[in-house]
Amino acid sequence: MNCLFCSIAEGKIPSKTIFEDDRVLAFHDINPQAPVHFLVIPKKHIATLNDMTEEDCELVGYMTYTAQRLALELGCEGGFRTVFNCREMGSQTVYHIHLHVLGQRQMNWPPG
Ligand code: ADP
Repeated sequence: MNCLFCSIAEGKIPSKTIFEDDRVLAFHDINPQAPVHFLVIPKKHIATLNDMTEEDCELVGYMTYTAQRLALELGCEGGFRTVFNCREMGSQTVYHIHLHVLGQRQMNWPPG
């Protein structure tokens, strides 16, 4: 299987790592859309949110907790945006789930 984020999780492709443990990896987005923009991925390959099962609930919850903890460490105590893009209509381009975390600028609603 040829998956960009699996390769990053396995250390085969370098990334600007913020945090790593046995379940998740967080790294800075290569094309940041805000002063703080990082991604939290599971080490387990899950292609899209549509492929998540009930057994993944704890893992995805842990991704969210990791996002919150790192956002605060990176100075986003005033707030931040989290986004999961899902498939074509959601503008997903990398098919390994990832939680975008954006901060240090004012976010708007609705998103584009
Ligand atoms: P979109 O590209 O529309 O944001 P996704 O939600 O699938 O769709 O996001 C993929 C994200 O992965 C993008 O923000 C992109 O900049 C980022 N990205 C792609 N390749 C790398 C890489 N090698 N290292 C870090 N981030 C990457």
